[in-house]
Amino acid sequence: MLLSVTEARQKLLADFRAVQIIDIDIEHATGYVLADDVKATYDYPLFNNSSMDGFAVRAEDLQYASRENPAQLKIVEDIPAGAVPVKEIHPGEAARIMTGAVLPEGADSVIPVEDSNVNWRENQNVEMPPDVLLYRPVMPGEYIRKIGDDIRRGQIVMTRRRLRAQDIGFLAMLGIDRVKVFRRPRIAIFSSGDELTPVGTVLAPGKIYDSNSKTLLALSEKYFAEVISLGIVPDQIAEVKKTFESAVAQNVDLVITSAGVSVGAFDYIQKVVKENGEIKFWRVNMRPGKPLAFGRYQGVPFIGLPGNPVSAFVGFEVFVRPAILKLSGDANLEHSTFDVILAEAIESDGRESYLRAVVTFEDGQYSAKLTGHQGSGNLFSLVQANALLIIPSGVKSLPEGARVSAWLLD
Ligand code: AMP
Ligand code: MG
Repeated sequence: MLLSVTEARQKLLADFRAVQIIDIDIEHATGYVLADDVKATYDYPLFNNSSMDGFAVRAEDLQYASRENPAQLKIVEDIPAGAVPVKEIHPGEAARIMTGAVLPEGADSVIPVEDSNVNWRENQNVEMPPDVLLYRPVMPGEYIRKIGDDIRRGQIVMTRRRLRAQDIGFLAMLGIDRVKVFRRPRIAIFSSGDELTPVGTVLAPGKIYDSNSKTLLALSEKYFAEVISLGIVPDQIAEVKKTFESAVAQNVDLVITSAGVSVGAFDYIQKVVKENGEIKFWRVNMRPGKPLAFGRYQGVPFIGLPGNPVSAFVGFEVFVRPAILKLSGDANLEHSTFDVILAEAIESDGRESYLRAVVTFEDGQYSAKLTGHQGSGNLFSLVQANALLIIPSGVKSLPEGARVSAWLLD
């Protein structure tokens, strides 16, 4: 059965569930998907505080203040950040206040030190003067960060999302030091083929280096999976079976293989999976990457990518990536796409095609040119590309100037 990319993706993704939830320190939580909603346990800001270094005042005292005719106020207290003011500000009074310090009772605004006759920057340890001249009026509320202005206690402030640096800091701000997240998915990867040689060793005649395991390892880590590399497996049924058994024994959430799923005389992967589980599909109407298999080996999900290096990469981006994201609890499984204009006419063969291209921004629009021949073994043309153009199935040619959607690779 030859499925469309959309059908195949639906079929495949329906078979994945998010992995278990663990409880971790926020210090190690970047990249994980938050499992529970987070509720604010405080109002934020926690208290009325100053957003400037200056003087806490009553706005009415500065109503007529100007350079020529400054308001003179008595300084009754010094309030550094972290301190609690003890004095109330009465008419004619001010307190020296630092950024982040608690606003004293009676004050309704802050005037920055730059608008006064005091300059403690030039002389950092200057003693607090007995009074201050202020050169302009202020609005009530000026330079005050009010309690609860940003967040109200009890409010849901974060829902399921992949945690970024700023999210971690935000959790700390709210006093949350541990969170519930989905653990990283565990993925076993192996390459199959008698021609494959591990990089770093000497090539014998007829052999090539195994590049796919390295690409697939890097991609899996990019999408936050934990990888168990099972190396290169020769084209022998017993060896293939042994490797699957080892993956199962290591409790993986998914097994990814490359090569050996086509119609070659020594393509044993499908046969072994079928005998120990099931194959749900093994061909997809796409280019590159038509021989792509999905099934289960003793209950463990299995995705068999094609052997050709570009097919393996594209197959990963189209099928393995969303599977990993779903396993890790991510709600958004889609690549972001953007529209580009073809700078040259292109040919396709009617399959849904993922073409390697360089996209540049020219004259206010994204313009795309292919990076040479699109053979599925031409990894060099993938390396030169910064985008994949997506040509829908049924389309055999497109003229220069046509609009297509694309995925950014960088
Ligand atoms: P197969 O799917 O086994 O028919 O392989 C298709 C093509 O991909 C052949 O030219 C293989 O030599 C090549 N190939 C298979 N596995 C790898 C690999 N791990 N790294 C690089 N090329 C590979
Ligand atoms: Mg092979």
